[in-house]
Amino acid sequence: MDIRVRQLAKEFNTFRALHGVDVDIRSGELLALLGPSGSGKTTLLRVIAGLEEPTGGQVFFDDIDATSIPVRERGVGFVFQNYALFKHMTVARNIGFGLEARPKGERPSRAAIAARVAELLDFVQLSGLGGRYPAQLSGGQRQRVALARALAVEPKVLLLDEPFGALDAKVRKELRKWLRLIHDKTGLTTVFVTHDQDEALELADRIVVLNKGLVEQIGSADDIYDRPASPFVYDFIGDAVGLEVEVADGRATIGTQSIPLGLHVHDRGKGRLYVRPHHWQLSEADAAHLVGTVISQRRSGAERRAEVEIAAHMSFEISLEPGQEIATGCRLGLAPKRWRLFTASGRVIDPGVSRVPEDYAI
Ligand code: ATP
Repeated sequence: MDIRVRQLAKEFNTFRALHGVDVDIRSGELLALLGPSGSGKTTLLRVIAGLEEPTGGQVFFDDIDATSIPVRERGVGFVFQNYALFKHMTVARNIGFGLEARPKGERPSRAAIAARVAELLDFVQLSGLGGRYPAQLSGGQRQRVALARALAVEPKVLLLDEPFGALDAKVRKELRKWLRLIHDKTGLTTVFVTHDQDEALELADRIVVLNKGLVEQIGSADDIYDRPASPFVYDFIGDAVGLEVEVADGRATIGTQSIPLGLHVHDRGKGRLYVRPHHWQLSEADAAHLVGTVISQRRSGAERRAEVEIAAHMSFEISLEPGQEIATGCRLGLAPKRWRLFTASGRVIDPGVSRVPEDYAI
């Protein structure tokens, strides 16, 4: 089942939570809705589910306009952050609930429901725990039950709202892998909401980045991370410095210093030059065009980072190579190996190659 969202708008009183969102979700893909708090992720998911009525636009399930189809008839399975399990029911009854609640003519027999529940318990690796109550499970186990319950009714689409948001970091990581596995086994079109960029980058086939009710970018993890479409995506995904620059004659001037961008850059005027911490090439201070002073250093996971000041109140982080020793206080030359320039006139310039610009003399 593919889903097409067209010019979707949602207003709460006068507040516009979504304005003209277009997204094509491919059949069988695992898609993440990613964005900061309040960007409209949950609203978009709820409109797709039919839990929220849009104020404009349409949602198509395959070629059917599903915009006014009630939630019960959409064939969606929903998993919420807070499990939403029935506390007074056993795990098995929770999973079978959607089947038991069907009208008489459509309800499977007791034996068929029991068989389906056993199959799903096995599928989510909780065999033997069907007789427990939700309070007797860990958070990760509860979320597996919630997923089994959503799958019980054989939905055509699976929608998950911050499914791992309430879990600790280690369990989150395990469940991420597990969700990918489940998705690949079921082949269901799956959409999940997250504000955790690592989760989206690791798990999803494609990511929709939302900002203030608008789509900033749609693409694979590589597209989003390596080719951010806007300063917002750069600021939101991964680490990068966005330097205010003045561009002229193939050079970007930052304060009193300048960086050669290459002779192919013919633009003039203001812009923002983005560089990730590991995309700086370091050299002797006097040989390079951009000179900075290391003002502090810190450990960040597997790597070390140095904070480099290039002018008063203007500093950013660079990554150090393993074993690279640099003393705090020392002066360095910096050349961007990869960068993206967003000009004030709306152009995006990206040399797209991992190299120092050809006229950069180090
Ligand atoms: P979070 O990560 O914090 O859950 P989100 O990206 O999922 O955020 P939404 O929950 O979709 O964001 O909300 C988008 C905007 O719409 C927010 O500013 C929110 O306050 C507003 N909003 C959402 N639901 C309602 C509602 N029922 N009534 C009024 N405003 C709402």
